[in-house]
Amino acid sequence: MTEPVIQGGCFCGSIRYQLTGSLQNARACHCSRCRKAFSGASSAYAELSPAASFRWLSGEDHLSIYETGGGWGMGFCSMCGSTLCGMHEGQVHGLTLGCVDGDPGVEIEKHIFVDSRAPWDHIGGCAPQYAGRAPIEREE
Ligand SMILES: [Zn+2]
Ligand SMILES: [Zn+2]
Repeated sequence: MTEPVIQGGCFCGSIRYQLTGSLQNARACHCSRCRKAFSGASSAYAELSPAASFRWLSGEDHLSIYETGGGWGMGFCSMCGSTLCGMHEGQVHGLTLGCVDGDPGVEIEKHIFVDSRAPWDHIGGCAPQYAGRAPIEREE
């Protein structure tokens, strides 16, 4: 069995990455912090599975990290501003699904903090919605 290979990159194309292995725990968080961080109605984010291996293909020198506290941060392109990944203690923790090319192999499986959603946000689809944190959501 071959591992899935996922590629992605930023809007301007400076930064490219490749993930060998899968993503997990894809979610959309509608809280006010995620709306700002992801410049949209919600986050669209999935974590690297423990066995996945991530590497930058190009443009890593354009990656800037914005520290959000507690060892967490967001990695973005300093040229075009695309948010590419979540960082935890210096390691890539997960990917913003909007910057993945093609099918990331996961679908949004839950909407969280929907009580904080923007007034213009209409959440569709059949994934469960939680007023706040999902029952098994980890601290981040
Ligand atoms: Zn860019
Ligand atoms: Zn959030």
